[in-house]
Amino acid sequence: MRKQIVAGNWKMNKNLQEGIELAKSINDYFMEKPAAKAEVILCTPFIHLAGVAPILKANKLFLGAQNCASEPSGAYTGEISPDMIKSTGAQYVILGHSERRTYYLEDNAILNKKTVLALNSGLNVIFCCGEVKEEREAGKHFDVVKTQLKEGLFTLKAEELKKVVIAYEPVWAIGTGLTASPEQAQEMHKYIRDLVKTQYCETVANGITILYGGSCKPSNAREIFSKPDVDGGLIGGAALKKEDFVAIVEAF
Ligand code: PEP
Repeated sequence: MRKQIVAGNWKMNKNLQEGIELAKSINDYFMEKPAAKAEVILCTPFIHLAGVAPILKANKLFLGAQNCASEPSGAYTGEISPDMIKSTGAQYVILGHSERRTYYLEDNAILNKKTVLALNSGLNVIFCCGEVKEEREAGKHFDVVKTQLKEGLFTLKAEELKKVVIAYEPVWAIGTGLTASPEQAQEMHKYIRDLVKTQYCETVANGITILYGGSCKPSNAREIFSKPDVDGGLIGGAALKKEDFVAIVEAF
């Protein structure tokens, strides 16, 4: 049985006090509901990590960052290394989010470097991939995702890939209110799992968790999560309200 995961990506939202409050309310909820099926990860801004870590006491509730540096330490003003993230108590880092690819020009090579460094620091990686609208309309979405994964991820050994969760996030669905249909999500998730099978083996492919991300909300989560190759979600906007976020986790 592979892990089912719901990860919340807070992006650049919530000041420290608001973030602590949100984390507390989510932790309180899961303390009273220890039987939640999915693992839950809160991916907060860097400055929240050390404050949120001691709050997360509930079973299966974890903490992650949204980016990390591509170098381990040194004269890189303003950067945060994977070791620093790990030292806060966080277990995960999101890499390759489309907002990082688009606004900060992160390409597959730099994302591969960050992934290797993060894994070496003992972090688990949530590696994002996905096509933009024009690429889907041109029928290039499979090729785009294939290149992102081949160059960004498939240099890893099978043992290392076990510490990676893939998030398929069609860029046209992120923050737009447009969601991939459950069938579109399943089709791409199956394609990704088959790629992993070809590159590694069936056991690795069957074990890897693949999340869907893109305007996932309480009203559509159940149907999307019911697809056989969808193992959960990476949630943006709906992760900022406790009620919506826990309702998505409960959609399993
Ligand atoms: C995201 O940022 O990863 C995301 C999926 O955002 P949203 O849920 O708001 O579309």
